[in-house]
Amino acid sequence: MTTKETILITGGAGFIGSHMVDCALNAGYAVRVVDNLSGGREANLAHLGGNQDLDCEWVDIRELAPDAKVFKGVDRVVHFAGIGDIVPSIERPTDYMSVNVQGTVHALECAREAGVSKFVYAASSSCYGLADVPTREDHPIQPQYPYALSKYMGEQSAFHWHQVYGLPVNSVRIFNAYGTRVRTTGAYGAVFGVFFKQKLEGRPYTVVGDGTQSRDFLYVTDVAAAFLAAAESGMTGQVWNLGAGNPQSINRLIELLGGDKVHVPKRPGEPDCTWADITAIGRDLGWSPRVSFEDGVAMMMKEIDVWKDAPLWDPASIAEATKTWFEHMDKERAQ
Ligand code: UDP
Repeated sequence: MTTKETILITGGAGFIGSHMVDCALNAGYAVRVVDNLSGGREANLAHLGGNQDLDCEWVDIRELAPDAKVFKGVDRVVHFAGIGDIVPSIERPTDYMSVNVQGTVHALECAREAGVSKFVYAASSSCYGLADVPTREDHPIQPQYPYALSKYMGEQSAFHWHQVYGLPVNSVRIFNAYGTRVRTTGAYGAVFGVFFKQKLEGRPYTVVGDGTQSRDFLYVTDVAAAFLAAAESGMTGQVWNLGAGNPQSINRLIELLGGDKVHVPKRPGEPDCTWADITAIGRDLGWSPRVSFEDGVAMMMKEIDVWKDAPLWDPASIAEATKTWFEHMDKERAQ
């Protein structure tokens, strides 16, 4: 019989979730993964093949009854399962509410039934909208698009379970996570995916606006370490912002990647700068970022071949892919 504690990771085959699996195994946990493989890929866990401490169940979280077997004997839960990206959320809002809100409710019910000692919710900094920086946890909430709203409502649900049922919940609001295993297919999305494929093909980088805008990028292994700390903390009912606390401009990213650029129009509703105030998470969890932006980009560069079959974006296809964005978010033009 195993004496190890068990941690269940929803979305454990995904980009951040799979790094969380590595992190939890390294910390000595038995790990269960629940993932419906919609965004996640078994390949993200292939390096763990045969590991006795890892069990995977390929199931949609919304199909789990509260007494689902996979949650039996689980000590802690980290909930990453969900869907991302702005444009598809504007096009298909009901899917986002279903997966990110209702899916969270299912995970909460399972966790409650299992009597877990901690449930950590993977929240998004997009709840702050166009925020003052550096952004603290008590900043006003102003979601700008359905993805942001759905992630925030998932978080609210988690705290409701804390309040009503006494479920020990913490939430970590992620700023811009980047790193290996980030998805390479699907909708136009995160800048790293777009640029790495462009680099591989020797095409110019499609810089939005003048490239001076900056993001609080945090390498994915640092993200996973923070979530483990939130899962092990004695504190409950907490929200922590999670970033490197050191925003980097798009022009800086291009400097590191090297190559030509071409400009595409600035998108309405996009912040010029995201920047997490990480005072609270440093103080409460003793967490701090370990991987520099330069090292993180270099680690991704080593695996640039994973972009072989990724879509190649250019100004024309980006204009087409972001049409709905401009349509619904350009409030000034719409008036
Ligand atoms: N970006 C860019 N070119 C692209 C895609 C994104 O210059 O083809 C910029 C975008 O303007 C933003 C940053 O990269 O400043 C990060 O964008 P992403 O969509 O990855 O994250 P988010 O804007 O949601 O923080």
